Amino acid sequence: MAVQTCDALIVGGGMVGLCIANQLLERGITSSIIVIDKEPDLGRHSSGRNSGVLHAGLYYKPGSLKSQVCVSGTRRLRAWVEDRQLPLNACGKVIVPPRAELDPQLDVLAERGRANGAVVEFWDAQQLKELIPEARTASGRALWSPNTAVVKAITVVQRLQQELSERGVRFLHGHPHWKSRPEKQTLELANGTGLNYAHLFNCSGLQADRVARQFGVGLHYSLLPFKGLYWQLKPGCPIQPRTNLYPVPDLNVPFLGVHFTPSADATPLVSIGPTATPAWGRENYHGLQALEPAMAAANLAVLARQYLANQGGFRRYVHEQAFLALPPLLLRAAQELIPAVRAEHIELSKKVGIRAQLFNHRTQRLEDDFLCLPGPSSTHVLNAISPAFTASFALADLILDQAAPSLNLT
Ligand SMILES: Cc1cc2nc3c(=O)[nH]c(=O)nc-3n(C[C@H](O)[C@H](O)[C@H](O)COP(=O)(O)OP(=O)(O)OC[C@H]3O[C@@H](n4cnc5c(N)ncnc54)[C@H](O)[C@@H]3O)c2cc1C
Repeated sequence: MAVQTCDALIVGGGMVGLCIANQLLERGITSSIIVIDKEPDLGRHSSGRNSGVLHAGLYYKPGSLKSQVCVSGTRRLRAWVEDRQLPLNACGKVIVPPRAELDPQLDVLAERGRANGAVVEFWDAQQLKELIPEARTASGRALWSPNTAVVKAITVVQRLQQELSERGVRFLHGHPHWKSRPEKQTLELANGTGLNYAHLFNCSGLQADRVARQFGVGLHYSLLPFKGLYWQLKPGCPIQPRTNLYPVPDLNVPFLGVHFTPSADATPLVSIGPTATPAWGRENYHGLQALEPAMAAANLAVLARQYLANQGGFRRYVHEQAFLALPPLLLRAAQELIPAVRAEHIELSKKVGIRAQLFNHRTQRLEDDFLCLPGPSSTHVLNAISPAFTASFALADLILDQAAPSLNLT
């Protein structure tokens, strides 16, 4: 059997896996690194399919892992993108309450943002209109985040992979089937190659719970996939917001609500979305592709129990967000932000992503924060949900710090 040996074996070459490789190099921990991915090329899942928004850190409860890494992460990723002159739209973001009773949530967001080190300003309706003439705030107030920006996610992934390859990181693509032998610190690929490692990082996104289970880790968690469909304003549409426009989110569920996002292209294309609808498979991006009926049925049962128990105000998510894949409901959600948007202004975008949302069967709740669990000679990143892309460099440092006591790298 052919054997390759490394200090760090990273399963999953999304933004989290790539940034761990980058920080292992940057911090001088090791340069003996292999990244293995099941796909023939990188960026085919969340890291290449997201909105590309570099979040400024407004949403996250102070003390959470998200709050610890979002502000420094966004600064680092933005500087990285700017240094390489990759596309970046430094357009900021404005958050509005679609209904007057949601207005006090703006204060919560401003307080959280300031506690996390983000810059925020309150605006009145006039200031909002100066930036987006057609936008509406139900209460006359809005929250402005000047440091939110938008990048082209797939370009970031591809450039980072190229630089890591040039620095000696080995990439093994197209390996969906392998067996783990945790007791031997080996992964056996289907082609017979053995990968010996000192430490393994499981960064496999939508499959992270399944990979973790092979190491006896995270047995009371499973991943619920939520599909994010996008619509877009037609290029000739008279309404073209120049900044991100978001509704005040329901802070009980980890979805931000349908929003308007201008892309990082020279002539920005404005997307509307993403929705957050239970998916029929973890990688069921289109039609009947990668359907998992048994998993979907089990997940729907979990969601139905959540609905009945109304855990964490779950019914509000179902009523307001679960059916937004239906065009009339999506249009209505968009009109809450910009009433002048009409059906003839929008078209379905080709872009679609699936969020890997972790469910804790012990607490019967969706996990809201990043979760990183230790295993035998391994570390398992289980809930790398938004803003893991934004925060990826800082999150990688946090993961390495947590893993440090068990990192027996040579
Ligand atoms: C619709 C949508 C919009 C989002 N918008 C934003 C945003 O605007 N800003 C933001 O910060 N975040 C956003 N996010 C979240 C962000 O995209 C993710 O948090 C981030 O990309 C997670 O990166 P990852 O490396 O953990 O996962 P991924 O990018 O999914 O990478 C995992 C990799 O593991 C590989 N893999 C899986 N199983 C195996 C296996 N068994 N063996 C080998 N390889 C395997 C996959 O092929 C994949 O390449 C969004 C997510 C979605 C879905």
